[in-house]
Amino acid sequence: MELLQHDILIVGGGGAGLRAAIAIGEENPNLSVGVISKIYPMRSHTVSAEGGAAAVIKSNDSLDDHAYDTISGSDWLADQDAVEAFVKEAPEEMVQLEHWGCPWSREPDGSVAVRPFGGMKTERTWYAADKTGFHMLHTLFQTALKYNNITRYDEWFATKLLVHDGRCQGVAALELRTGQIRAIAGKGTILCTGGAGRIFPFTTNAAVKTGDGMALAYRAGVPLKDMEFVQYHPTGLPGTGILITEASRSEGGILINKDGYRYLQDYDLGEPLDVHDPRHPQKRTMELGPRDRLSQAFEKERQKGRTIKGEFGDYVHLDIRHTGEKNIEKKLPFVRELCRNYVGLDPVHELIPVRPVVHYMMGGVHTNIEGETPLPGLFAAGECACVSINGANRLGSNSLTELLVFGARVARAAVRFGVQAGDLATEKIIAQAQQEQRRIRERFFQPGSGQETIAGLRADMTHTMESGAGIYRSEESLRATCDRIREIKGRLGGLELADHSLTFNTELTAALELEYTLEVAEALAHSALARTESRGSHQRTDYPERDDERFLKHSLAYRTDGDPRIEYLDVVITRWPPGERVYGSK
Ligand SMILES: Cc1cc2nc3c(=O)[nH]c(=O)nc-3n(C[C@H](O)[C@H](O)[C@H](O)COP(=O)(O)OP(=O)(O)OC[C@H]3O[C@@H](n4cnc5c(N)ncnc54)[C@H](O)[C@@H]3O)c2cc1C
Repeated sequence: MELLQHDILIVGGGGAGLRAAIAIGEENPNLSVGVISKIYPMRSHTVSAEGGAAAVIKSNDSLDDHAYDTISGSDWLADQDAVEAFVKEAPEEMVQLEHWGCPWSREPDGSVAVRPFGGMKTERTWYAADKTGFHMLHTLFQTALKYNNITRYDEWFATKLLVHDGRCQGVAALELRTGQIRAIAGKGTILCTGGAGRIFPFTTNAAVKTGDGMALAYRAGVPLKDMEFVQYHPTGLPGTGILITEASRSEGGILINKDGYRYLQDYDLGEPLDVHDPRHPQKRTMELGPRDRLSQAFEKERQKGRTIKGEFGDYVHLDIRHTGEKNIEKKLPFVRELCRNYVGLDPVHELIPVRPVVHYMMGGVHTNIEGETPLPGLFAAGECACVSINGANRLGSNSLTELLVFGARVARAAVRFGVQAGDLATEKIIAQAQQEQRRIRERFFQPGSGQETIAGLRADMTHTMESGAGIYRSEESLRATCDRIREIKGRLGGLELADHSLTFNTELTAALELEYTLEVAEALAHSALARTESRGSHQRTDYPERDDERFLKHSLAYRTDGDPRIEYLDVVITRWPPGERVYGSK
């Protein structure tokens, strides 16, 4: 087997992966970089981000305010040193992106326009209409093309980390066009593989978001951090889960129940009672409260029988009609397009049906502030990593900026590691890749019992995750989910693939992805069971209070042959001692 070799290997061609690739070129253009992506990079999920990216730019804002909002939004589970680095580097990254060609929307005076976003005290979310991720990814992609030291492996699927002598030395990857596994070596390997929303039935996440990098690291003995924290976005379309961006609420959209009543006024969203702004007589943040609280309010409303019953479960309505056609066309054209194409309605004149849908994983591969994992040679950034700046609840629009800041940081750390690292054990890692080729052929291309299907196992997994580890959880529901996941894992052996071809075998990749999602689901459910408190997006009906004494800590889930082992790690507190989560405009 031929060995493909680079100084630094990046798995993932989304926002984090491309930013990292560029940063290596900026750092040292003589280093060779390999970027592996299971899909063409421009199809990475980053492309679908709509609302915007947060960074301080206006004179009425400050880095401390951005840090405080992020920390209180995280319910004090974010590491404050990481948040401080993040808010400081964020504006530089955003300006840099503009210089590379990102068309940020503008105020009439020509300055960068910012919009309010949930849980942010002031307007600090930069946007490019409602296609922010599309423009950001294009900008990064076209900039990456300028660097001759970057080799892309588009439509290559990483199946295993190659670890020898306690050091990650590359990956085994399936070339989808030929069906061959190849060894790709790197002195440093950076995982930028995105999130894992697909372990739930209703999600805004693209079909490719199956937690591959998290599972690869987990299998190699690296812990997954804070996996119990799953963000539900309050406004997804029922059925498809397609996102109706938070920007539709920042532009004035309101949520109403089956009686046409603006129900959020009945709930405590954490706004301070003394928020008075003479310019805004409506002093409550309401629809711009944090995502976890809004999703929880929906669930309470459902229990009271005040939601609407539909084919895909209960839903409420988002009303943006009053914001006017001109405004919708200018600021929310994509929302109109999505509603027309996927629900057959025009939000200029009609109400949009919405429900909470899984949106984002706060947890991920355990890294430090530089993106280093505990396994030497392995790094992670972007949604697959947990640095952590998001803690128990991410604030909308912090994630796109996180890709830039930590994509660049992790690249610098990998370069530092790569230049002083010893030689790679090439023969050993080729042998591991050959073994991986045999494993996949034997596992999937030989007749099984044929009792199970990918779709059947996937549906069982997603439904047990929603019912037992959804917006509200309890010991009973989580235990049932943990048992069910173990049972579904056991049934994997009964899976038989009908397609044994080598060229673009999507049934094979779906089976590999199913295995990854089950690893992630297992770590998530067990981490949630062990955390007997409620914090941010993790709401236990049997432990409704936050318990700083026992749980001001990150959870670390380690893979074992049985149930995962859960350990804890202290949260880094620098300047903001834990307090009440309070929201509201400045
Ligand atoms: C609909 C939607 C809207 C959003 N809107 C916003 C927003 O407005 N603001 C905000 O801050 N955040 C938003 N988010 C969140 C944010 O977009 C994501 O967290 C972020 O884009 C993830 O970027 P990433 O680079 O980590 O991963 P991705 O962009 O998901 O890229 C992952 C990459 O990894 C590759 N990959 C994965 N597995 C493998 C494998 N096994 N082998 C090889 N390659 C692999 C894929 O090919 C892909 O290139 C939104 C998310 C969604 C779903």
